[in-house]
Amino acid sequence: MKRKRIAAALCAAALCIGMFSASFAETPAEKVERLRQESAAAEENVEAHEAAVQTAANQKEAYTQKVQAIQQQIEIQKQLVTAQKEVLDEACRATADKLLETERTRALFEDRLVAMYIRHNNSDLATLLSVSTFAEAVRYIDNLRAIAQSDTELLETLRKQSEELAARQAEEEAAYQQLQADQAALEQQGAELADALQKAEAAYSKEQADLAAAQATATQTGEELKKAEEEYAAWVAQNDNSSPEFTDGVFQWPLPGYTRVSSPFGWRTLNGKQDFHRGIDLPAPQGTRIYAAASGVVSFNAHSSYGNCVKISHGGGLVTIYAHMTAHAESLYEGCTVQAGDLVGYVGNTGNSYGNHLHFEADLNGQPVSVYNYLG
Ligand SMILES: [Zn+2]
Repeated sequence: MKRKRIAAALCAAALCIGMFSASFAETPAEKVERLRQESAAAEENVEAHEAAVQTAANQKEAYTQKVQAIQQQIEIQKQLVTAQKEVLDEACRATADKLLETERTRALFEDRLVAMYIRHNNSDLATLLSVSTFAEAVRYIDNLRAIAQSDTELLETLRKQSEELAARQAEEEAAYQQLQADQAALEQQGAELADALQKAEAAYSKEQADLAAAQATATQTGEELKKAEEEYAAWVAQNDNSSPEFTDGVFQWPLPGYTRVSSPFGWRTLNGKQDFHRGIDLPAPQGTRIYAAASGVVSFNAHSSYGNCVKISHGGGLVTIYAHMTAHAESLYEGCTVQAGDLVGYVGNTGNSYGNHLHFEADLNGQPVSVYNYLG
């Protein structure tokens, strides 16, 4: 077979000059297939990296917003702390003022008491003795008592007010401490978020770089694939020119185990009309494997009535057709080569078909011929 001969010749040549390597074992078709897979993988890789970049961008954006939000919160908190400091300072001043007033009043009253004591010792007796009546004396003592009582009450009131102011000052101090603690907590949170944002930005940059690398690889693989496809096309053209004959000789049976023909090649009556049947119909369960009758080059282009269909060009104008499949083999692609016995697809009921079967057809120079001409 042609391809094998070329591969063997290449291998022999490689061995002669002592440069045998894996690349010599790869045919142009295999190279195309490998690069198709590599290119598809590279494209998938690009998509994965695009998704990763998007995720990283979203994360970065989320942290940016969180950082902005907490910065605003910190600003508000700072204003609250400043306002509370003023309230606290005012409370401190009020407490200090009241204490001062209390102390001054106490000192004043003490001075008066001292003065009254001295006066009492020196002259109150004289005053008492000088009052003309008992009633006057009683009134005088009552006055002294009333003064002492009033002083005591005023001092008590001042003491209570001082206590209340001190209590209020303590409350404002506690509130101030709490606001400061809250600010510190917010600033800590802000620092952590800023750190997370920095990391998210670094991750985003890295994902962007990875994406660029993946895109470069995909572009390069795509170019290699294009070149390999051109080389392959040239190889096929050359191969076809050098092989005008069908050289495989005898077809392999495409559907091992299923030999019953439900509709033969040639004229038949279908729904009361005369119809030329271009191949033979072989009933088989859906999914039954279909194999290439001979080696050749694959194409898919066929009339829609054939459903999922594979054509194999064998050289010399001879083509086999496998129609109505559920699907062709995944490994196949337009222009790939298959060997006799390679999997081409699975029995189905697609296109103009009534029940699962393989329509197996041979065309010579575009005209249908009996497949039995080639089945030995
Ligand atoms: Zn048919």
